Amino acid sequence: MRAMILQATGQPLQLVEREDPKPGPDQVQVKVSACGVCRTDLHVTDGDLTEAKLPIIPGHEIVGTVSELGSGVEHFNIGQRIGIPWLGHTCGCCGYCESGSENLCDTPAFTGYQIDGGFADITVADARYCFPLYGDNTDAELAPLLCAGLIGYRSLSMTGDNAQRIGIYGFGAAAHIVIQVALSRNQEVYAFTSPGDEAAQQFALEMGACWAGDSDQPSPAELDAAIIFAPVGPLVPAALRAVRKGGVVVCGGIHMSDIPQFPYSILWGERMVRSVANLTRQDAIDFLALAPTVPIETKIQKYALEDANQALADLREGNLTGAAVLIP
Ligand SMILES: [Zn+2]
Ligand SMILES: [Zn+2]
Repeated sequence: MRAMILQATGQPLQLVEREDPKPGPDQVQVKVSACGVCRTDLHVTDGDLTEAKLPIIPGHEIVGTVSELGSGVEHFNIGQRIGIPWLGHTCGCCGYCESGSENLCDTPAFTGYQIDGGFADITVADARYCFPLYGDNTDAELAPLLCAGLIGYRSLSMTGDNAQRIGIYGFGAAAHIVIQVALSRNQEVYAFTSPGDEAAQQFALEMGACWAGDSDQPSPAELDAAIIFAPVGPLVPAALRAVRKGGVVVCGGIHMSDIPQFPYSILWGERMVRSVANLTRQDAIDFLALAPTVPIETKIQKYALEDANQALADLREGNLTGAAVLIP
């Protein structure tokens, strides 16, 4: 197998060749056909997230075909197209797992963080955390659904049933998927981007946002809810100022710069701030079933596996419209 591997945080990924990994019990070996590049991969490689198993093969938006079955795997067939997301393992017995919140498991393991991921041409994964993928979309088009799509969907779910006007702060891979779900529900989307990022604002308008503008400006309308995808703490008080009484600000990222001090008055009125952490397998089942019915179309930029460092750099610098996907 070939893989782009992270030896130490802060360093570029290195191309390595290794023996093909063999599936253990309950695992599948997967021939990777596409793997999306997510902002979380940047947080892993930069060391913002401190619990990586090193060295690690990043990548948790994996699409491929099953190439070998470990013992005990009965629900997949050789050659079947499947997806592998961020949530790679849960304990199954902590209070969170037992109460349907396995996304909060006390001893989880995540793909591309503690479990070798999809910046490779072959990987193995616990089959219980993999999902069949259907529909006519190409493997590369489906890859961003496995994290950007899932986290976006979970974030949108957390805005509640009564949100008509939704603000999205940071218009990248997750936003361009979640807006399609929101529009299918006849919700209005207001897109807030880095000040002056006209390309992102244009992209948001093309995707159907009713308004797009700079995040340091007041919202043109009172919002029912806001979702923050950009890892920028000052957006929290900005979004709180934009939402109505009882509205919620959902932070969809795994890492964010510090949130500045803000007056209690902008939280008052039963406004809420909450984060969204990881995903449950039920989220994946629900969202992957929903996606073809919307239908969700992703905008992707393909890179060769060897160019993973370039893809990460382009994501960091905001030089992407849509989602970066590595093709081994
Ligand atoms: Zn658990
Ligand atoms: Zn991700």
